[in-house]
Amino acid sequence: MTIAVKTFARLAEAASALSTERGARFLAGGTLVMRAVNEAEPSIETLVRSTDPSFVGIAVTSGRVELGAGVTMAAILGERELAFLHPVARAVGGPAVREAATIGGNLFAPSPYGDFASALLALDATVTLAGGYGQRELSLEEFLGRRERGASLVSSIAFKRPANEVFRFTKVTRVHPKGLSVLAIAAQLPLANGRIAGPRIAYGAMGRMPLRAKAAERALEGRPLEDNAIAPALAVAADGTSPLDDAIASAWWRREILPIHLRRLLLGAGRS
Ligand SMILES: Cc1cc2nc3c(=O)[nH]c(=O)nc-3n(C[C@H](O)[C@H](O)[C@H](O)COP(=O)(O)OP(=O)(O)OC[C@H]3O[C@@H](n4cnc5c(N)ncnc54)[C@H](O)[C@@H]3O)c2cc1C
Repeated sequence: MTIAVKTFARLAEAASALSTERGARFLAGGTLVMRAVNEAEPSIETLVRSTDPSFVGIAVTSGRVELGAGVTMAAILGERELAFLHPVARAVGGPAVREAATIGGNLFAPSPYGDFASALLALDATVTLAGGYGQRELSLEEFLGRRERGASLVSSIAFKRPANEVFRFTKVTRVHPKGLSVLAIAAQLPLANGRIAGPRIAYGAMGRMPLRAKAAERALEGRPLEDNAIAPALAVAADGTSPLDDAIASAWWRREILPIHLRRLLLGAGRS
C-alpha cells in the first residue's frame, strides 16, 4: 500500500488536511508513527507534516514558557532556561529517540510512554489546537480526557514557569538509563511559610493516560514537607489510579511502590 506524505508550510493548512484527508495521521518526530507505518498499520493512508517555524519555537520569559509542539526532547535539553525540564527530557528513550521525539507526540504516546506529558500535567499546561478556521486553547487535563484527540493538531503547549526547586520529577524503571516507566511522578510543590500551598502532582503509567493525584494533593495542602506531615498523602497516593498491568510491572506492584517513590520525591530524595 502506498502512503502519501503531505508537507505544509503553515500549521493551519496541515490541521485542515488532517481533518479532511482520508486516513490522515500527523507525522511529528515519527518515533511511534513510523513504527506503525513499518508494521503496515492499515488505517494510515496519508502522513501530514508541517515546516511551520512556530512548530519548533521555544519562548521562555520569567513568568511563562511557550513551546511549539514540534520541539524535541533534545531541543529541551539544549535550552538552559528549561533546566527544570532536563530530567524529564533525559528520561525519554535513548539519544537517538530524543533527537526525534517531540513534546507534542508525547501527549499521544500510549502508556507507559508519556513521561513528558506527565510533567506537563503537573505544570498545569494548556495546549493550543490548530484548525483550518483558527486556534483554540484548552487545559492539557481536559485535552487528555477527550476521545477525539487524534483528529486535532496540537500546535503549541504553554505553562507558567515554576520557581526554582518547586518542580520535581522522578521516573522508576527496571532498565537504566532508558527503560520504560514502571511509573513516573511529576510534582509542583509551591511553599508558603514553609507549608505546601496549591500542590499539583501527576503520575505516568498509573492509568491509560497521565493523571492527577488529586487525593494526595488535597492531603498535602497546608502541610510542611516533613515525614510525619506527608503520611496522610502517602496513604491515599494510589486513590483514583488504575495502573497498567503489563510486561514492565503488574498493577499490584505499581500501587505498592508508588507511595515509596512519592515519599522520596516529596522529601527531596527522589531519583530523577
Ligand atoms: C525505542 C523507544 C523508546 C521510547 N522511550 C520512551 C520513553 O522512555 N518515554 C516516553 O514517554 N516515550 C518513549 N518513547 C515513545 C516516543 O518516542 C515518545 O513518546 C515521543 O515523544 C513521541 O513523539 P513523536 O514526535 O516521535 O511522535 P510521532 O511518532 O510523530 O507521533 C505519535 C502520535 O502522535 C500524533 N502526533 C504527534 N504530534 C502531534 C501533534 N502535534 N498534534 C497532533 N497529533 C500529533 C501522531 O499522529 C501519532 O499518532 C519511546 C519510543 C521508542 C521507539
